[in-house]
Amino acid sequence: MGSGLKGLKGALPDLTLKRLRVDDDTSANAATLELGGARGDLPTKFPTSTELSSSKKAEFEGAIPSGVIVVSKLLYPDGFKRILEEDSSFKAYLRGISRKRYGEGDAVLLFMEFKGVAPEGVEEWRVLLDLQFLAGFDIITVQQAEGQSDEDFLSFLKFSRRWCEERGIDKPLMPVICAKRDRGAAQGILKALADSGLDCLGVDMRGGFYYHTLSAIEDLKRRSPEIWVHAFQVPPKLRLGGRLLSCAEGMVLPIFGVDSFSRWIVPPPPIPLTKDKINIFDREDWGFMKRGEWMEKRGGMLNCDCPICMGSDVDGLLSGTVIRALSRGKLHDHFSQREEMEGARRRILEGGYRDLLISKRGPREFLEALGRAGPAR
Ligand SMILES: [Zn+2]
Repeated sequence: MGSGLKGLKGALPDLTLKRLRVDDDTSANAATLELGGARGDLPTKFPTSTELSSSKKAEFEGAIPSGVIVVSKLLYPDGFKRILEEDSSFKAYLRGISRKRYGEGDAVLLFMEFKGVAPEGVEEWRVLLDLQFLAGFDIITVQQAEGQSDEDFLSFLKFSRRWCEERGIDKPLMPVICAKRDRGAAQGILKALADSGLDCLGVDMRGGFYYHTLSAIEDLKRRSPEIWVHAFQVPPKLRLGGRLLSCAEGMVLPIFGVDSFSRWIVPPPPIPLTKDKINIFDREDWGFMKRGEWMEKRGGMLNCDCPICMGSDVDGLLSGTVIRALSRGKLHDHFSQREEMEGARRRILEGGYRDLLISKRGPREFLEALGRAGPAR
């Protein structure tokens, strides 16, 4: 692979986060992210490659708002072994994730959902970095796998920095920590990362809600507002203290200083999905509801003018095959959460963000559960 590295060095995108305003009552920031030629207004939701590839199945031909694209992959032990050992598998994998599939106006990065894989040692680390570099990604992610110690993860990060230097790669490195239950542990790893210099930070939410990790991020952002924080693997609904709330998790992450989020990728369910199981984002309450709930609570009316719904009701959105319905549901979730985030951004800039949160049932219940729903500070 050594020879393949020559001559592939592209433009050197600088990463800049310009903070425009921090909300008076929460740690939410309105900011602008600039990354080479890509630009994004924060806070926002960035799409995954899975969501982008839903377009075809959804029979939708328009553009999908992005800025940063998260190429998301599930990685299993067998697959990883093949990438490590067989050149043909490495090359095939590389073709599958290539940056060429995406527009120049967006920044592209890789996120791997490690399924029973914990990359260990320089050979395995190097392969992960080579893949990203050869695929042409604009940001190089250095991920902490579940169960990987902070010490090993910091060694991996150090190795990655050296790897970049040796190759003259001047792309931002994004350390991605595994969200933790323990506040002290989260503070510890964030302090170590901040001490070593940090432009951007990823947090792998692992399909859950990790309050202590988010609180530690909130502290970090107060001290260093110029760090771009992105949350990966964000599930639709938020589970707090064993209770599943209807609140959309991604929509309340800005409260903790998180600038952007992307949806989780999960393995296909063992039993094929039916339309009644599809969660659909609700703009009115910032929650997720399934078809039955839409019928019961809203008479099926979605009240959404996004390019997928265009004013249709829930059965209109979910018409056709299950795969089409699922894809259209995903795209509606993306468009509508993006638009709601734009509204939130305006309120952070103009004032009244907290009032907006309280006016939505999902965030209101969440803030009440956290004990943060009282009068403004
Ligand atoms: Zn919609």
